[in-house]
Amino acid sequence: MNFPTVLALAMAATLGLQGVAVFAPAYVVPSALGVATLGASPWLVRLYRRRSAASEKGGRGRAAYGVHGLSRTKSTIEAYNTVQNPDVPELVDYILQQATLQQASDVHLVPYRDYVLVRYRIDGILSDVAQLGPHLRDLVTNRLKVMAQAITFVHDRPQDGRIDLRVAERDVDLRVAFMPTLHGERIVMRILDRSELGFGLVSLGFTEEQLAVFSDLIFRPQGMVILNGPAGSGKTTTIYAALKAVLDHSDRGTSIYTLEDPIEYDLMNINQTQIEETQGFTFAHGLRTMLRQDPDVIMVGEIRDLDTARIAIQAGMTGHLLITTVHAKQAAGVFVRLSEIGVDPHSVASAVTAVIAQRLVRILCPQCKRRTPATPGQEAKLGQALSGHTFYAPVGCAACNQKGYAGRKGVYEILQVDETVRELIAARTSPDKLHHTAVERGMTTMIHNGLRLALSGETSLDEVLRILPPEQRGV
Ligand SMILES: [Zn+2]
Repeated sequence: MNFPTVLALAMAATLGLQGVAVFAPAYVVPSALGVATLGASPWLVRLYRRRSAASEKGGRGRAAYGVHGLSRTKSTIEAYNTVQNPDVPELVDYILQQATLQQASDVHLVPYRDYVLVRYRIDGILSDVAQLGPHLRDLVTNRLKVMAQAITFVHDRPQDGRIDLRVAERDVDLRVAFMPTLHGERIVMRILDRSELGFGLVSLGFTEEQLAVFSDLIFRPQGMVILNGPAGSGKTTTIYAALKAVLDHSDRGTSIYTLEDPIEYDLMNINQTQIEETQGFTFAHGLRTMLRQDPDVIMVGEIRDLDTARIAIQAGMTGHLLITTVHAKQAAGVFVRLSEIGVDPHSVASAVTAVIAQRLVRILCPQCKRRTPATPGQEAKLGQALSGHTFYAPVGCAACNQKGYAGRKGVYEILQVDETVRELIAARTSPDKLHHTAVERGMTTMIHNGLRLALSGETSLDEVLRILPPEQRGV
């Protein structure tokens, strides 16, 4: 250690102890560890740790972290609360990179009076990750606004933006939404991993019979296929997989158009248009325009008004395959919902070829799941005796980040509209009656297919119970 280094270190240590911000020259830093072990300023220790981490990864913002467990993520993020002059870009980078590496679908930054809660949604479940001190709130918000190209000085109205990120050789898209609240802006980021666009029909979760039925439905030249399920139930993934399958099936000889709000993934060889309702570019408007573009297949993000419903039904009956979603509690409820919007049940009955309800269940980590019988409580909720069957429950290990689950799969119910069902729809039959008729005619229910997944050990009984609305239990 040469004299100037010793001098600089001594100065830095003194100033650090007094709480004065100092930037030690780079050549001093490697020596800091030696001083730290002699009982010097903890500030210097932190500085050393951060600087050496930065040089390891070759500069800020390009970190190559491994996947950290939740407790390590928490302590790493919360360490910034006590650091003087925290490196905010590095902190934000860490939060986003860990979210991506841990396969989170969303990151939430929720401001409260005394802290900002960092939450990740992984496999559909939101969990608390860490708390940021209130002094970091505006710094982190500003940093994200800069990255997302939002306006930094606007705090009193919602803003949207996008961030492109590269994590561990993968290109990741972030949709960022800023929403004013009482204690600052709430930030929600949806992570869209473009490298995960393998979208194969086979891996979605359909049973073999369902896969055959679904393929037949989407390879027909016309008709209307409706997906149904709450937000986050995987409808978009199913639709994209369907569009990709249609494209491949026709050897790219099909013209496919989508109207989305928002566009969730960029798809190759598919014409995607984003709806802008606030600017008057509605689904109905977009659909009219699109029909003049000679489409074979049209995807409409959602049908929620009569105008869109009418044009969509017309399109589905005149040589187009139309794929869309409609909100309803269950597959059989979609027809009632459409007539509530104002569509004539006869038109619905003639245009719709199938309604597919979907939920997602988490898949058990194969490394640590354990065998278990069904509990009396689970049997009661399901309304069936399950003794004699073996199920599996989550445990948690290093491979699954102590969650017991890894990945998700769709559970489906396909209500096909055949002659019998068509007559019932036209006669405004109740959803329950329709559901039972479809079951009599061979439809396997969501609960049936969920149980099948649980019996095969892929998921747990609790997961099956979680996705079932109370009124479907015991069916
Ligand atoms: Zn595990």
